[in-house]
Amino acid sequence: MEDTPIPLDKIRNIGVVAHVDAGKTTTTERILFYTGRTHKLGSVDTGTTVTDWMDQERERGITIVSAAITAQWRGHQINLIDTPGHIDFTAEVQRALRVLDGAVVVFDGVNGVEPQSETVWRQANRYNVPRLCFVNKMDRIGADFDAAVETIEQRLGASTACLQIPIGAEGQFEGVVDLLSRQAIRWTDDEGAHREMAPIPERMIDAAEAARSTLIERICETDDELTNLFLEELEPAPQQLFAALRRATIANRLFPVYCGAALRNIGVQPLLDGVVDFLPSPLDRGSVQGVHPGTGETVHLEPDPNHSLAALVFKIANDPYMGHLAYVRVYSGKIGHGAQLYDVSQDARERASRLVRMYANHREDLRLIRAGDIAAIPGLNKVRTGDTLCAREHPVLLESIDFPEPVIRAVVEPRRAEDIDGFHDALAKLAEEDPSINVGIDEETGQTIIAGMGELHLEVLLDRLQREHGIQSRMGEPHVTYKETITVPVERVEGIFEQTMGGKSHFGRVCLELAPGEPGSGLVFENATRPGVIPKEFESAIESGIRGAAQSGPVGGNLLTDIVVRLVGGAAREHESTNLAFHNAASSALRAGVAKGQPVTLEPVFHLEILVPAEYTGTVLNQLSGRRAQIDGVESRSGGVERITGRVPLAEMFGYVTELRSITQGRGLFSMEFDQYAPVT
Ligand code: GDP
Repeated sequence: MEDTPIPLDKIRNIGVVAHVDAGKTTTTERILFYTGRTHKLGSVDTGTTVTDWMDQERERGITIVSAAITAQWRGHQINLIDTPGHIDFTAEVQRALRVLDGAVVVFDGVNGVEPQSETVWRQANRYNVPRLCFVNKMDRIGADFDAAVETIEQRLGASTACLQIPIGAEGQFEGVVDLLSRQAIRWTDDEGAHREMAPIPERMIDAAEAARSTLIERICETDDELTNLFLEELEPAPQQLFAALRRATIANRLFPVYCGAALRNIGVQPLLDGVVDFLPSPLDRGSVQGVHPGTGETVHLEPDPNHSLAALVFKIANDPYMGHLAYVRVYSGKIGHGAQLYDVSQDARERASRLVRMYANHREDLRLIRAGDIAAIPGLNKVRTGDTLCAREHPVLLESIDFPEPVIRAVVEPRRAEDIDGFHDALAKLAEEDPSINVGIDEETGQTIIAGMGELHLEVLLDRLQREHGIQSRMGEPHVTYKETITVPVERVEGIFEQTMGGKSHFGRVCLELAPGEPGSGLVFENATRPGVIPKEFESAIESGIRGAAQSGPVGGNLLTDIVVRLVGGAAREHESTNLAFHNAASSALRAGVAKGQPVTLEPVFHLEILVPAEYTGTVLNQLSGRRAQIDGVESRSGGVERITGRVPLAEMFGYVTELRSITQGRGLFSMEFDQYAPVT
């Protein structure tokens, strides 16, 4: 078991995020190596890295599952929360961002900011996650630190604080100048484990001094006291600069920038220093809000182990050794070994019979998971991703993680008939790990349907089915999931159910009003009747009648969504009113209402962003208009590149990657992010 736990201010909960291929996996793997927990340097290219523990991640070179791995650096505990880089897995990125206190964003030194980095950056903005930037691949031909930083400033609108400049570039890249300490750092041994400090090379002194002044000016601007010193042309003490930069980073006012080449083992340790020096601890993050599930009152949860417990389950993984493993972030209080836990979200009790901290190559049993920390609990079989764990006497609900509804579906079946039982079990397990996957049965055909956030998302699921469960399967053509909604408000519609069945009368009358809801709001049910009009005991039968009828809209039998349904009246009769009657009356009222509400079909629409050399812009725009895209803008970027942004129905985008590649001779890049369901045009 672990010894005395580390003080809270020495914990860093961080994630490494990046555009696919920028070097996130390599950087993470080097971090784990230098923090002393892995013993041999892996390489993505030979498929031996630690975080990519799933086979198909190795093959695809992308990291899909967010797990948490703990590492130690300079007396600090760094909990690395793994985040996927691929756009189809946005739900996974969002889930990770919720529990992070800070992030390292990896950029490619040649390409700088790429479309997916923008997506991830926006998401991090949404969650106010402080960030360090790591300009990686400085050894590549065409690597240009200043240009990369420029893209961070321009495209991400971020104020950077460059703490380093590179020594040499491309094949000659050998180290960095640390601007604040005016030292050159070089890595001499093959594994890059040892740094050598030396004076700044003569030829770089001017450039380094200029960059240093800019850095100091930027830091000073964020702090009144330092601004005054700066105006008097006095240089603040190093501790003052450090403290101010830390504050500015935590406040998202400045983004410290580092550079290196993870693959060549250059630049990773200073980045780790940056994590410790500038990214927030759980204490810096401060309290988070929860609500009391009974009263709805806001509860402030302090990162203090002596308060009552509030923990968020941010990931369920089926671990090959430990089975059902719940990764938790404790926001307040503590979870002791053997503790009784109350899962508010499921109204279930569980016992934490074991607590484990996951390292890159081993795990450690814990006595305690305290506020601010992240660890895993095996065996909590009722617990789901997004649930809150707390003490029964002090119930609290943390904001659950929002998962986008699946937008694409496909029929899937096992290749071999004898796999059929295992097939359903295995799919259910995989769906449990990833809430943005749905598995269901088509009622008409009896076929199994899987639904997710994109084609690749579904393919990866089937890959896992084969690798982890040994079941080969076949997937039909994917289809977009359509929905339906109403477009005009509907006043008072009525549903009556009155029948004698088995010698018993059933009576219920329900009046509803409908109104179009906000995109993404789903179906919202409100009871607006005066007390006594309909006995309280029938309310849930009415709601379930409405939700049942909403499964199939009048236009094409799709799910009804984004509708506010208000129960405004009705009637009951003593001895004759039953749940069955109210359920059926509510269903027919809803159907009647929707038919009057000028229903339309909705389809998933995605934000689209494309970067192409300007000579291809015209062709790309032409092709996009054929795909029903709405173009928001075309902007010029440095290097003769143009950025096209817009919105496009997902149904039009199957096979687009290949098309873009062929019309731009492989030079176009694109990324998509789910925006909303919108009427089919
Ligand atoms: P991820 O998709 O962001 O996780 O990126 P990976 O870490 O898988 O790296 C993608 C590719 O870039 C792999 O072929 C790596 O070997 C390569 N790579 C990563 N870091 C560097 C680097 O510093 N320099 C160079 N030249 N290649 C790198």
